[in-house]
Amino acid sequence: MKTIVMKFGGTSVATGESIRRIAKIVADSIEKEYRVVVVVSALAGITNQLAEEANQAKKKGEKQIQEFTRKLIAEHVATSRKAIENKNTQKQVEQVIKKTVNALEKVLIGICYVGEITPKSKDYVMSFGERLSAPIVWGALQDLKLRTQCFTGKEAGIVTDENFGEAAPLMNVTAHQVKGRLKPLLERNVVPVVTGYIAATQDGVVTTLGRGGSDYTATILSVALAADEVWIWTDVDGIMTTDPKIVPSAKMLPQLSYGEAVEMAIFGAKAMHPSALEPVIEARIPVRIRNVFNPKNHGTLIEDGEEAKSKEVVKAVAMIKDVAMINIRGAAMVGAPGSYSKVFDVLGKNKINIMMVSTAVSEANISLIIRRNLLGRTLSTLEIALLGRGLVNEISSEDDVCVIAAMGANMKGTFGVASRIFTAMAQKKINIRMIAQGSSELNISFVIKEKDGIAAVQAIHKEFKLDQI
Ligand code: ADP
Ligand code: ASP
Ligand code: MG
Repeated sequence: MKTIVMKFGGTSVATGESIRRIAKIVADSIEKEYRVVVVVSALAGITNQLAEEANQAKKKGEKQIQEFTRKLIAEHVATSRKAIENKNTQKQVEQVIKKTVNALEKVLIGICYVGEITPKSKDYVMSFGERLSAPIVWGALQDLKLRTQCFTGKEAGIVTDENFGEAAPLMNVTAHQVKGRLKPLLERNVVPVVTGYIAATQDGVVTTLGRGGSDYTATILSVALAADEVWIWTDVDGIMTTDPKIVPSAKMLPQLSYGEAVEMAIFGAKAMHPSALEPVIEARIPVRIRNVFNPKNHGTLIEDGEEAKSKEVVKAVAMIKDVAMINIRGAAMVGAPGSYSKVFDVLGKNKINIMMVSTAVSEANISLIIRRNLLGRTLSTLEIALLGRGLVNEISSEDDVCVIAAMGANMKGTFGVASRIFTAMAQKKINIRMIAQGSSELNISFVIKEKDGIAAVQAIHKEFKLDQI
């Protein structure tokens, strides 16, 4: 019997109707004698609302917070009434929703009184989207007479480090616990419904795996359970040559190697969480990206070493928006051994991830790309560590930039790819601020002003005729 871990993204659980659709997908798979673990995201838009509320809570009053929680209950109750037919199940789920939101309200009011939000309390707030969506999905599965049980990531046994906001799983203990808790259920044909995105430290404090982290939850569970495949259900047919919202004629890529998919996940912005493939690569578990609105389509299959099969040089192009560029200048960095390592060391110690680096041969300048939400913290960290110590004279930043990445395994050793890309940019009069090509040669990425992003993606898609792939 095959075990499949199925993750349903926010858009797949956006409405009561879509929740019934996914329940049907699960029921059909059970009928085909698959063992299924379900991982759910928060309803579309809820995690963003929670983030906003967490950031604003310290400036708000109790009344405003209650207004928010009232709306949150109303939205989830309305969705659950559409998703679930059985009145008893409906009632049970409504009670869970109300109890869960009450707990959230207490935390938000706490934040408002203390006037401060820590990464720890923010993660706790952010965890509520999934804690509210999972019971509704559980109810919809009950409706279809499936045997099912609901778990938070913590209850399922996922343990992480304490890097709140971007926690990483501790795989050995996680695998041991998940196997112990979920495997016996699967053997009895029970469908575990697990909240995506959220987990806990060894001490039981709630953590999140980073935005879009439900993909990661699914792959972590798949390794722990030695599943046969992971299916990431979303609102498009699979991984496409670019975001179909930017280029509507974008084509689905039927197959990708892990290497290509990792490159796309890191640079493909939304399509998949950047760390999600880490656990499955070693375990060689194939991952499929599929469309809930088009389940007949088999989607994109990501598995071991298929790179050589296709002939396209560039297979996909992506724009990553929420980034910022930092420039560090200092004449004294020229020829000074260890000057780069100081920069990387201080950022590493502060858990600030560098997405892209480029340096000039003159060595008087380092440019870095980081997530935009980390800009303030990164600047102050660098200023405290580097300014006035004789090495660096100036640290500046730009937050209106984006990264454009062109990807494809066959770029390796092919001449003229960069020249075609940059000629296309020149023709559109787009100015390039920074360039990097990983030594993997699986991608070329560069930084431009965010306002030029869409035009740049469209131009590259056209230059490499990706709509004819
Ligand atoms: P989910 O809620 O299912 O996790 P996301 O919004 O995180 O969905 O990701 C799916 C969206 O990613 C699609 O609707 C699409 O607009 C966007 N996207 C960006 N780049 C790509 C790509 N190369 N292939 C497919 N989807 C992409
Ligand atoms: N709900 C979380 C987010 O919006 C996790 C996810 O959707 O994967 O980031
Ligand atoms: Mg996602």
